[in-house]
Amino acid sequence: MAVKPTVADSSESRRSIQTRASSINRALDEVGDMWTLLILQEVFWGINTFGEMLAATGASRGILSNRLAWLQDIGCIKKSIDGDARKPVYRLTKKSIALYNNALMAIVWERRYYSNPELDAIDLHHQPCGHSFWPEFVCKQCAQEVRWQDIEYHEGPGAGLDVREIKTRRRATKTIVDEGQGTSLYRNLTELLGDRWTSNIIALAYHGFVRFEEFHKELPVATNILSDRLKLLVDNGILYKKPYRPSVLRYEYHLTAKGADLLPYFITLLQWGDNWCSHGNGPPMQLTHRICGAPLQGVVRCDQCHHEIVASEVSF
Ligand SMILES: [Zn+2]
Ligand SMILES: [Zn+2]
Repeated sequence: MAVKPTVADSSESRRSIQTRASSINRALDEVGDMWTLLILQEVFWGINTFGEMLAATGASRGILSNRLAWLQDIGCIKKSIDGDARKPVYRLTKKSIALYNNALMAIVWERRYYSNPELDAIDLHHQPCGHSFWPEFVCKQCAQEVRWQDIEYHEGPGAGLDVREIKTRRRATKTIVDEGQGTSLYRNLTELLGDRWTSNIIALAYHGFVRFEEFHKELPVATNILSDRLKLLVDNGILYKKPYRPSVLRYEYHLTAKGADLLPYFITLLQWGDNWCSHGNGPPMQLTHRICGAPLQGVVRCDQCHHEIVASEVSF
């Protein structure tokens, strides 16, 4: 069984909460932390020794060791000694390679909303068709774009409650955007979603939650933390505030187009959670695509030949 990270950030406090079983939450608890996201991102793009990762992520040695140990515990990174024991190499596993679609969806979103020269210079090449391509996310059954308004949620065989160990960290005052020299291709996304609460809130917004009390009921964190993360999401253009009771000014939080466009990132993460973070009872939740009526299976395709993307068939 995996052991949770033991080298805590100094600002970290812990307790447990129970939340509705969800593959997104399970996935976030495993790989939703900012440093974990950054490390996986670097390994995906070929950075794989401790020294290289230290420079690329801007993490302290303590944090980097801690997260690498965690990623090995959960089976997302394998450490191997290729001849030089002083420089072990960290490699992806089947489990982390399965996050490839999620990484592509992060890149698509980041490129749409932020200017980033390294990212703009990336040219993804699909070997089977021989074209430069851009990944697109569609329903496998009807090949239509998947919008959050078109998804219905039902309890699945694994429905129930999960006990989650909660580590509440103060958000870093420094940003990662200007730190590290690595590729960090989706650094704005990582910065924004890397504390899990913001991700949890966005996932709830896709379920149609709009009011503070609704978010708080599903996500029993301190109200000041919830307020802070809602404000952060408004400041970053993911949610917008809409007054709903003019007499006493109260607001609802609705998804903007930019927030809605994160859906492929979340669905690929949910599908990964279903496949790799299951507690053995099957998915806690089942999704139906209203457009075609089929169980929703989102797939990432090449926009040139429309075939599904396989990680080993893409070069850049
Ligand atoms: Zn469909
Ligand atoms: Zn293609």
